[in-house]
Amino acid sequence: MLDYQAPQDLLKDKVILVTGAGDGIGREAALTYAAHGATVILLGRTSAKLEAVYDQIEAAGHPLPAIVPMDLKGATAAHYRGMAETFAQQFGRLDGVLFNAGLLGTLSPFEHIQEQEWDEVMQVNVKSEFLLTQALLPLVRQTAKEHGEASIVYTSSSVGRKGRAYWGTYAISKFAVEGMMEVLADELENTRVRVNTLNPGGTRTRMRASAFPAEDPQTLKTPADLMPLYLYLMGRDSQGQTGRTFVAQPK
Ligand code: NDP
Repeated sequence: MLDYQAPQDLLKDKVILVTGAGDGIGREAALTYAAHGATVILLGRTSAKLEAVYDQIEAAGHPLPAIVPMDLKGATAAHYRGMAETFAQQFGRLDGVLFNAGLLGTLSPFEHIQEQEWDEVMQVNVKSEFLLTQALLPLVRQTAKEHGEASIVYTSSSVGRKGRAYWGTYAISKFAVEGMMEVLADELENTRVRVNTLNPGGTRTRMRASAFPAEDPQTLKTPADLMPLYLYLMGRDSQGQTGRTFVAQPK
């Protein structure tokens, strides 16, 4: 799928929410979606990073994005509902959601997993996605009805399908994400909302460097290399694909 060639206007007029849009893969996805015509809603916890992405999109002359500074660690169902109402009023549609924000936590033997860190990783990687999905679904469904399609993409990992020693809470959280995708995809089978997971594979970002500090980042694909798959799943060419895990690269 990394050889998919997206038409330049693939996402024209669409509104797409990207979580963790200030850095790494999410940042690149936000820039790429905007370059293909989407109005992107940039959600993340560090305002300065989101503003930098905003400025880059503005300077390139793409549709102006919106910024939602939010720490998924502390946000509640009420925050998400309020946000969904704002999107409905401001944009009237939500064609796509890329759940990308993620927390690695500490890699450690199972017996050393700290309860507090378990809670934090599960909160950011799983519970916030569950609550945000619940809050956004009415608008996403309505968009699919009115405009023919909508796409929800969760971000998984190789350790979300095959457990690996010492990857503890992070791996377990990604298994939960895979499960959430399958449950929701099955429920939405007869709608025009497709739901999939995307496993980017080892990619040159801050998170990867903290997991593999001895690795030479130059040996890894960059977020930009993965964008054909990120575009494919957000755009009309993936219509009908649902309940699947897409792996960007085997590594
Ligand atoms: P980065 O750490 O580079 O970026 C993660 C983004 O998520 C950052 O923008 C970060 O914000 C944001 N984020 C983290 N915690 C929160 C929070 N509590 N509230 C709001 N935003 C938050 O990671 P990657 O780009 O590497 O990873 C993106 C996704 O891909 C993740 O889900 C990750 O698990 C997955 N993945 C990555 C792989 C890789 O090799 N890179 C491999 C497999 C999966 P801030 O910038 O403010 O810290």
